Amino acid sequence: MEPMVTKPYPWMCPNCREKTVAPVLSDYALTAMHDGLEYEVCLRNVLVPRCERCGDAIITSGLSQQITAELRRMIGLLPGDAIRANRERLGLTRAQLAATLRVGEETLARWETGGQLQPRAVDLLMRLYFDSAEVRKACVA
Ligand SMILES: [Zn+2]
Repeated sequence: MEPMVTKPYPWMCPNCREKTVAPVLSDYALTAMHDGLEYEVCLRNVLVPRCERCGDAIITSGLSQQITAELRRMIGLLPGDAIRANRERLGLTRAQLAATLRVGEETLARWETGGQLQPRAVDLLMRLYFDSAEVRKACVA
């Protein structure tokens, strides 16, 4: 995950080229894509750095993480800590589960830390894999 932006306000607006960006407590809505589907995401009462002059919002890494978390909740994907807990319950290393799911270890790491959303098909496969010994047998890499 990227470090949080800690630079003191006001920030330089990339549009106006002036120090006119300050945090505003507001709702933040956007259309996000996942797996080729669109989702209307709305975060309630979040601090959004916004330019007082042109109104442009700056998406910080913190805001981006909140958007990803809300999108995960809306789609109903397994939370990252649930993926990790199930993997550990089965006594698997990240490398072992990644090989089983036919994905890169770094990809699995991003799903577990919540930085990236798994595709819905993989989410379904992981649920079946975690719940069923028969599926685990069929998935042997
Ligand atoms: Zn501006």
